[in-house]
Amino acid sequence: MKRILPDYSYSDGPRTACYWDETTTAPVWPRHDGEAKVDVAIIGGGFTGLSAALHLAEAGVDVAVLEAKTPGWGASGRNGGFCCIGGSRRSEKGLMRDYGLAVAEEYLNAEVAAVDLVDGLIARLGLEVDRHSDGETLLAHRPSDMRYLEAQAAEMVREGGPTPILLRRQDLAGAGLRADFYGALTTPKGFALNPQKYLFGLAGAAQAAGAGLYAESAVQTIKRADGGWVLTTAQGRVTCDKVLIATNGYSSEDLPNWMAGRYMPTQSSVLVTRPLTQTEIDAQGWSSHQMCYDTRHLLHYFRLMPDRRMLFGMRGGLKGTASSETAARAKLRTHFDKMFPAWRGVEATHCWSGLVCLTRHRLPFAGPIPDQPGMFAGFAYHGNGVAMGSYSGFLLSQLAQGKNPVPQAMQTPPPRFELGGARRAIMPVVYASLMLADI
Ligand SMILES: Cc1cc2nc3c(=O)[nH]c(=O)nc-3n(C[C@H](O)[C@H](O)[C@H](O)COP(=O)(O)OP(=O)(O)OC[C@H]3O[C@@H](n4cnc5c(N)ncnc54)[C@H](O)[C@@H]3O)c2cc1C
Repeated sequence: MKRILPDYSYSDGPRTACYWDETTTAPVWPRHDGEAKVDVAIIGGGFTGLSAALHLAEAGVDVAVLEAKTPGWGASGRNGGFCCIGGSRRSEKGLMRDYGLAVAEEYLNAEVAAVDLVDGLIARLGLEVDRHSDGETLLAHRPSDMRYLEAQAAEMVREGGPTPILLRRQDLAGAGLRADFYGALTTPKGFALNPQKYLFGLAGAAQAAGAGLYAESAVQTIKRADGGWVLTTAQGRVTCDKVLIATNGYSSEDLPNWMAGRYMPTQSSVLVTRPLTQTEIDAQGWSSHQMCYDTRHLLHYFRLMPDRRMLFGMRGGLKGTASSETAARAKLRTHFDKMFPAWRGVEATHCWSGLVCLTRHRLPFAGPIPDQPGMFAGFAYHGNGVAMGSYSGFLLSQLAQGKNPVPQAMQTPPPRFELGGARRAIMPVVYASLMLADI
């Protein structure tokens, strides 16, 4: 595996003290040993890989998931649990300008369908995922952003969808959202969940449907053979007709070589406090259980969970080393204290980080890998992979069966970033310009 961040980013270091590990008991998965043959092999056991495995196994396809660590070890088992509309970092206007109305609308409908897919899976599989929040709430961090929220609300009404709720600054305290914001827009779509409970639910359902799930089985090479593919792991080989690459932020430049330069792994960090007392909740005036984020480009995301712990996340460190992780955690705490001053003394019992994935054209990808018959990849949800990763997994399962329901915009192969393996060097510049735009 040829990866572009320091080894620390791919170690257990950033993941220690992940709250979700305390709320779940990880099943025991076997390691893949020896020789095996399946119809479809999936590399990566996150939402993308497991959703693909579930849908394939349910369709009667012989499928195996090979995961380097344990299913959910990557971003899927350590995210903020916002199951919401998203996946790209493009505005509606930008999409329409660059792709035309029909393609843009098809993609935007897919973002909604992604949330519906997760909603449907939870109901169908009977998963208990600590669900809460009625849609998502976007908070204006400066007065001028209220104009944007108003325009968004007007657009939603025009489109005739579910009615958005617009709150002015003076209404926020009454809604249990007292912090230094200038207003809020609630879009009544999406919900929050415990991502690891959802992940383990998907894994269990995939296994029950017949999928093989293997932990500690990192794929080291992929080679073409006899019209199919041979994957080697440290302990064995898997021969298959089709391969799905579902490694997202944990991808390698050489698995396959086509991936080189097409994805940008980027850290996101989360803290979780101890359960807040009623007195502390009253002191801050934040009692809402809505999942919230702010209008910054470098946004903060936060939600008061059903167990009264506050979850708060933002971008992580830039270097991917242990010392940059320490600095990022300190910064995370500073931002939390600034946003919720009444909770300055409240202990954060858990803090961790992980890798999200971006593309240069700021759209997710789900599609065939050019010139590699039977090989498909799904990645780059721009920090919104609970819904879009699950959906992308579903799309990959369809591609592997010879169907193609993938929105056109998602099939455009992401162009390569400049600087190749050194492309992370542009991130400080990107962050600095976004920080300026947020002032
Ligand atoms: C801190 C944080 C907070 C986030 N918050 C949210 C949120 O609130 N809402 C939201 O929608 N999204 C959120 N995201 C993003 C979301 O978690 C991801 O988009 C999503 O989990 C990606 O799923 P995936 O299955 O594609 O990749 P991952 O879950 O990252 O899984 C990829 C897997 O591939 C494995 N792998 C890599 N190489 C190999 C190999 N050679 N062989 C075998 N296995 C391999 C890795 O070990 C890893 O487990 C967050 C991410 C982070 C890190």
